[in-house]
Amino acid sequence: MMREVVIATKNKGKALEFEQMFQPFQIQVKTLLDLPEFPEIEETGATFEENAIIKAESVMKETKAMVMADDSGLVIDALDGRPGVYSARYAGPEKDDEANIQKVLRELEGVPLSKRTARFYCALALAIPGRETITVNGTCEGFITFEKKGANGFGYDPIFFVQGYGRTMAELLPNEKNKISHRAEALAKMRTILEQLERESVL
Ligand code: IMP
Repeated sequence: MMREVVIATKNKGKALEFEQMFQPFQIQVKTLLDLPEFPEIEETGATFEENAIIKAESVMKETKAMVMADDSGLVIDALDGRPGVYSARYAGPEKDDEANIQKVLRELEGVPLSKRTARFYCALALAIPGRETITVNGTCEGFITFEKKGANGFGYDPIFFVQGYGRTMAELLPNEKNKISHRAEALAKMRTILEQLERESVL
């Protein structure tokens, strides 16, 4: 019986989303905030899935516990998929949201609306000792605006126009975003997998 899961994140907002997902399973949730000595994990993968697996498996090796990790970012078609896995540090290692946004807008100068299609992507990995690591993904389709709009959210939200909502992600309320986001879709898929694992008495 696995009664503990470690979430490979130090981000409090994400930790809360994961905690909510695990609530029905009566599994104790820890995060890297509970393990302050844990060193920074290098995200050396070429894909979101690879990075999520690297994070989940390296924390599993150390803690011997079940571990869930995520990796996410923005994929812009006109930029051949960039910023992609480099989303957080696109404009430099400072991970500056405003600088990242300005870099994207600069690179898309002269690109018409019809070619500004993009999606947020989220990969989740679940590493369980002695089993093959499981991954799922979620996406949220939209396009990149010509200027920033809205004050909610974080990262690229002010320049991401959500298909079907007529607003940028930063103009959506948190509960609206949490229904349609790439992370919400991936978390929903992972919940189905956890239910299956519970039926198989793995959890
Ligand atoms: P990470 O998965 O926490 O490493 O996030 C990678 C980066 O992708 C973030 O720093 C943001 O720049 C971008 N990103 C991921 N999810 C979102 C989102 O929901 N809104 C805006 N930007 C996001």
